[in-house]
Amino acid sequence: MTRRSTLVRGSARLSDPNTVAVEVGTPRGAFTVTTTADATLASPTASAVPLLVPVAMRHGRSLHLDGEIDDTQAEGLEHVQSTLTSWYSHLGRAVVHAPVFEVPVDRSAGVGCFFSGGVDSFHSALTRSERITHLIFVVGFDLAPEHPLVKTALTEVRRAAESLGKTLVVVHTDVRAMSDRHGMSWGPLYHGAAMAHVAIALSDHVGTVLVPSSFVRGQTPPWGTHPDLDHRWATATSVLEHDAIEVPRPAKIARIAQYPTAMEHLRVCWQNRDGAYNCGRCEKCLRTMLALRAVGGQCRTLPERIDPAAVAALKLTSGQARAMRRNIAAMTASGTGTPELLAAMERAVDRSDRYWSRVFRTHAWVTARLPF
Ligand SMILES: [Zn+2]
Repeated sequence: MTRRSTLVRGSARLSDPNTVAVEVGTPRGAFTVTTTADATLASPTASAVPLLVPVAMRHGRSLHLDGEIDDTQAEGLEHVQSTLTSWYSHLGRAVVHAPVFEVPVDRSAGVGCFFSGGVDSFHSALTRSERITHLIFVVGFDLAPEHPLVKTALTEVRRAAESLGKTLVVVHTDVRAMSDRHGMSWGPLYHGAAMAHVAIALSDHVGTVLVPSSFVRGQTPPWGTHPDLDHRWATATSVLEHDAIEVPRPAKIARIAQYPTAMEHLRVCWQNRDGAYNCGRCEKCLRTMLALRAVGGQCRTLPERIDPAAVAALKLTSGQARAMRRNIAAMTASGTGTPELLAAMERAVDRSDRYWSRVFRTHAWVTARLPF
């Protein structure tokens, strides 16, 4: 009987000054990740490590790296693995085989911030503006490289960066396609590792990179970017900071509504119905539009009119229903909601409440009758 291989092998090199190529060999086959930028890249092996470790935890139990890693990164990987294995039972701890060298901490003074053009990234870019020198936009994360909106999104982030007086770094990577093909769930796990990969590859320009928080403290589910995780991907030359975990999304929206640059270029939509930059009809667009309406924000990239019928028709998760209730309260308090719109919001929340209480009742009924 042959024993199943548990070995993952990884190597990385600069195939040109602007491109890192990461070769990954797993028990299920080999693949390559290519990341390129309009700035020079560095530290190929260190930048490959965040991509390789979750793969080794998923598909094998042993990672052989063709290259050395520094002691800061080696120590951080212990914490990364502890956190990920405590969250996800399908991941196991991987032994990382690579020479470890000690190096004095010597980071570039530049400070980057991941910048998709959304609420979280605009909030970080605007409120940490004194520290930030570079904004980093990645094609291949939420927008696939072939997505028809890439050109528009690039134009908008270029204008935003120019208006904010920051250097924009544009990165292209095929990491998400690899992630999807190899069963590495992007949101809950791999996108944070991919951000660490990009941050480390840019370490000649930015020694610190801010990762705008998606959640607020006390409500952070296991997620690829997380306050317990991001800083653990650090190397001697690259630090990641999870930013603004203490600020709830409505407060972020109220803050960015005060800045014309954000109101000129905001991008929140991922459904992009009919090829729209922001469709104005999906839950995320409508949630943002309602929160902006409550604080008097006027955004060029979102439709001005909020369609009550579209709001009433929303099928909300319990978290989205909570956000809708907050918007109802904020719009009522500020007198910015028409009776028709408020009634539509109430209808969406009521439907969600009825749906979820039915689900819970069914679950309780089934569980009570299980024979174990
Ligand atoms: Zn939308």
